[in-house]
Amino acid sequence: MGQQYIPKPGSKVDLSDYDPDDHGGYEKEAAIAETDRLQEKLIALQEKLYAESKQSLLVVLQAMDTGGKDGTIKKVFEGVNPLGVRVASFKVPTPDELARDFLWRVHQQVPPKGFIGIFNRSHYEEVLVVRVNGLKPEAVWKRHYDHINQFERLLADSGTRILKFYLHISKDEQKERLQARLDDPEKRWKFSLGDLPVREKWTDYMQAYEELLERCNTEYAPWHIVPANRKWYRDLVVTRAIVETVEAMNPQFPQPEEGLDTVVIPD
Ligand code: AMP
Ligand code: MG
Repeated sequence: MGQQYIPKPGSKVDLSDYDPDDHGGYEKEAAIAETDRLQEKLIALQEKLYAESKQSLLVVLQAMDTGGKDGTIKKVFEGVNPLGVRVASFKVPTPDELARDFLWRVHQQVPPKGFIGIFNRSHYEEVLVVRVNGLKPEAVWKRHYDHINQFERLLADSGTRILKFYLHISKDEQKERLQARLDDPEKRWKFSLGDLPVREKWTDYMQAYEELLERCNTEYAPWHIVPANRKWYRDLVVTRAIVETVEAMNPQFPQPEEGLDTVVIPD
């Protein structure tokens, strides 16, 4: 079920084949109820993952502006013990970061054993904004697909499960969401004039997304193309994929110490 939005690894991706309005036949209320049910499972699974402390999960979120990265994090992980979750948001690299290879800052943020790590943007910006705006020569960013695959392979081989979500909204939906940010005084802080030139390059970004979805969609680190015009369906798809993955990781509480049955706690 949670596999349904993963393209076949190695296959061509045409994003116009993916409907951002898709809601899997769900009504809003039913989707919300199902997400709530899955969240209860996630809370219990994460307690075990943390206690076991042998494997980790990395969740990568990518989307156009207003695509719902922040909202997804807020919703999907509400109720999960914050002790075992780490969120990393990747911004324009600092001079210090630019003085290293592009994975340097990313590698420092990968989740240790027992943790769920969430990337709000990620190393994929290096084949998105960097490519579209020509921030590096083509010969340089073209090699990053391989670098990324190798990097993710290393993490997978080291006990990290990786799930990547591209939150797919339509250009019309983005217009509405940007307008809502302008109109609502409590959302205005999120509006950046810099989002407008990015919007103008929508087609270039879709092409860049298609290429990374083709080249970096692997068995060990699959991409999900999440229909994201409806927030309640987006949350359901992401929650379900995470729950199914952690279930398959099958985390177990550690064995308690020997001899606890006869312990008497002194007064
Ligand atoms: P926001 O997520 O709205 O706070 O914006 C973060 C900004 O940082 C976005 O415009 C990203 O495109 C930009 N950004 C993130 N990673 C990189 C990168 N590796 N190179 C250039 N810009 C980046
Ligand atoms: Mg922004």
